[in-house]
Amino acid sequence: MLDLGARKSIYQPEQDGLIFPEEPAFDSVEAERADRKRRLVAACRAFAQEGLDYGFAGHLTIRDPERPELYWTNPMAVHFAQVSLSNLILVDHEGTVVEGRHAVNRAGFVLHAAVHDEHPDILAMCHAHTVYGTAYAALGRPLEPVTQDACAFFEDHAVILEEAGQVAVENRAGGEVARAFKGVKAAIHQNHGLFTASRHSIDSAAFWFIALERCCRQQLAIDASGHDPIRIADDKARYSREHVGSEYIGWLHFQPIYQHLAQTQPEMFD
Ligand SMILES: [Zn+2]
Repeated sequence: MLDLGARKSIYQPEQDGLIFPEEPAFDSVEAERADRKRRLVAACRAFAQEGLDYGFAGHLTIRDPERPELYWTNPMAVHFAQVSLSNLILVDHEGTVVEGRHAVNRAGFVLHAAVHDEHPDILAMCHAHTVYGTAYAALGRPLEPVTQDACAFFEDHAVILEEAGQVAVENRAGGEVARAFKGVKAAIHQNHGLFTASRHSIDSAAFWFIALERCCRQQLAIDASGHDPIRIADDKARYSREHVGSEYIGWLHFQPIYQHLAQTQPEMFD
C-alpha cells in the first residue's frame, strides 16, 4: 500500500502487542472486493447515523479492485440506513448499472464519474446534501484553520466558486468538480455542498466527509458567536494537517465507526 501520510508512528509508539486496528491485506481480488463492499455499506450506514441523508440525494463510490473503471455505489432512492450488501449496485462511467437490481442516481453519479475519470488514483468518493456543509458552501469561502479539526483540511481542500445553484448543474459541473480534486481530499461546491475523495479507501473518504461537515458546523457556530476566532499560524496548521489529516488517519478514525456498526447492525451485511 502507498505511504499516504502519518501512520502508526504518533498513535502507537511502543505499543507493540496491544490491540490496534490493522489495515486489511488480501490474498485474492474477491476478498478485496467483498471488503470494499462491506465498508461502502458501513459508510452509508454511518452517513445515516450522522443525519447526512436528504431524500434520495447523496452518493458514495468505491472502485472495483479488478475492474477499476467500474464503481460500487449506493442504490437510487434507498435511505442510507437501508443500504446493505444485497442492494449495492455496480455502475460504469456512463452511469449504466452493470450489476444489481436497483437504478442509479444518474444525474448525481455524473459528478463522481467525472472525478474518477480525471483522477485514476482516486479510489473512493462521497457527496451528500448536508445541513451545515451546504449552508457553508453558500458563503463560497474556504475553511479557515481555526481549530485542530479544521487544520486537517488546511491547504487540502478546494472551493469551487462556479455558481452551482441550478439543480441541473450536476450534469455540466462534473468537469469543474473533477479539476478541483487535483491533489486535495475535499471540495466545497458553492451553493451546492461537500465532496470528499480518497486515494486510499472508502473508510477515509467517508470519515473526512463526516469531519468536513463537522468543521463547517463549527465554523458557522464561530461565525454566529460574533467574535473573531484566533487563526492558527500557517506553519502550525500545515504541521497539524500532516499529522492528523492524512489518508491513514482518516481510515483509522473510521475503524471505531465500522466496528460499532458491524456489531449493532449486522443485517447490513446480508
Ligand atoms: Zn449534489
